[in-house]
Amino acid sequence: MDTPLPRNQADTPGERASVQPSERYAVLIIGGGAAGITVAAELRRHRPGLSVAIVEPSETHSYQPGWTLVGGGVFTLAQTQKREGGLIPPGVTWIKQKAATFHPDENAVEFADGRRVGYQMLVVCPGLQLDWDKVQGLREALGRNGVCSNYAARYAEYTWECINAFRGGTALFTQPAMPIKCAGAPQKIMYLMADRLRIRRRLAQCSVEFLLVGDALFGVPFFVPPLQRAVDRYGIKVHYKHELKAVDGPARTALFAAKGPDGEAREVTRRFDMIHVTPPQSAPDFIKQSPLAGAAGWVDVDPATMRHTKYANVFSLGDACSAPNAKTAAAVRMQAPVVTRNLLAALDGHELTAAYDGYGSCPLTVALGKVVLAEFAYGGKVTPSFKLDPRRPRRAAWQLKTKFLPFLYWNMMLRGSEFDVGHQERQFADAA
Ligand SMILES: Cc1cc2nc3c(=O)[nH]c(=O)nc-3n(C[C@H](O)[C@H](O)[C@H](O)COP(=O)(O)OP(=O)(O)OC[C@H]3O[C@@H](n4cnc5c(N)ncnc54)[C@H](O)[C@@H]3O)c2cc1C
Repeated sequence: MDTPLPRNQADTPGERASVQPSERYAVLIIGGGAAGITVAAELRRHRPGLSVAIVEPSETHSYQPGWTLVGGGVFTLAQTQKREGGLIPPGVTWIKQKAATFHPDENAVEFADGRRVGYQMLVVCPGLQLDWDKVQGLREALGRNGVCSNYAARYAEYTWECINAFRGGTALFTQPAMPIKCAGAPQKIMYLMADRLRIRRRLAQCSVEFLLVGDALFGVPFFVPPLQRAVDRYGIKVHYKHELKAVDGPARTALFAAKGPDGEAREVTRRFDMIHVTPPQSAPDFIKQSPLAGAAGWVDVDPATMRHTKYANVFSLGDACSAPNAKTAAAVRMQAPVVTRNLLAALDGHELTAAYDGYGSCPLTVALGKVVLAEFAYGGKVTPSFKLDPRRPRRAAWQLKTKFLPFLYWNMMLRGSEFDVGHQERQFADAA
């Protein structure tokens, strides 16, 4: 039997305080980010009496897709952040702790302070880990000397400072090995900057360069041509197979391990006036070291049901899980209803019937005011929500990115509303 839940005490209206954890919950959720809050809200909507707890150490919740717009000078950082306490769904217990160790054979999770909490069903969604230290000197260099990154709230505003102050010289943009969250984000900010330089008539005095580990602009080939057109339009130089190894802020140099066309490895040192770094990313260490991890370190789930491959009462979604989709909040929006339905079915001893199709979305900001709305699913299938050719940069898609999607996130998704325009696989003629 579950122990009765302590009531959440509201300190201000709409704000729920963290409470001491009870012994055992019907559903314990690790991580109160996009995935954790959404699943908790959907579970409570489907089954209001269910005892649900979220383990989340942070007081601040971020709408990370907005950070590209912060770096691009379109949003303020404050527009992308809210207090976590105000987002925990009513009736859900917030355990303000860091999960440290999993004991899936005992249906228990251990926190950083050594306490244990039990569960009937576990949902694991602590996001992914930004491996800043894998690039020598990067951590110390960030936030000064033109070294910026939209991948952390505290540096996204500095990206805009750098772009706003840039009048000429070399601007480097880096992209590490996949998978990363929002695979399009490293180049989205590059196009926003290039377009600002174009508007200021400064593009000709600048060298904008994209240095990436991979050998294609985007993982879904269908969306490469519009990106290539953006690259050509701004005169951006693209260097494939370049991995950032070290940054020296005061010297304004970056060291890359590069592979030439013949496959020969060499080191390349580049001087920069500004560098936007997307750090290497991996599963959080406490996940990698846990019995829940698969070979690559992510929580090992069935890519359709989102249930753990070994532990039948464990589910995972979002950036931390092994499903081979694009790691995006858009993916979370489609995974959460699947996890909710299948988890409740498992709780009731029924078969799992809900299946995730691998949907993810990446609104590619190819210009200020124009977006290529890339929507796709497993196997690189093109699955747009609308009938229009998604390769065309559109003003309507910019409105969607800057207005509707943030609204959808805060007011619908995090409140457990299962919103889908009805994305589906569509075919388009070759030329776009
Ligand atoms: C610059 C940038 C641009 C992006 N652009 C887009 C976009 O345009 N479209 C899009 O759909 N997505 C985009 N994303 C990706 C999107 O934000 C993520 O995919 C999404 O937030 C993943 O949700 P999540 O819940 O898995 O992880 P998060 O939202 O990162 O939440 C994880 C939570 O787990 C908590 N946590 C961590 N460790 C522990 C622990 N030990 N115990 C308990 N809790 C823990 C964290 O504090 C955090 O609150 C972007 C991301 C970035 C950084």
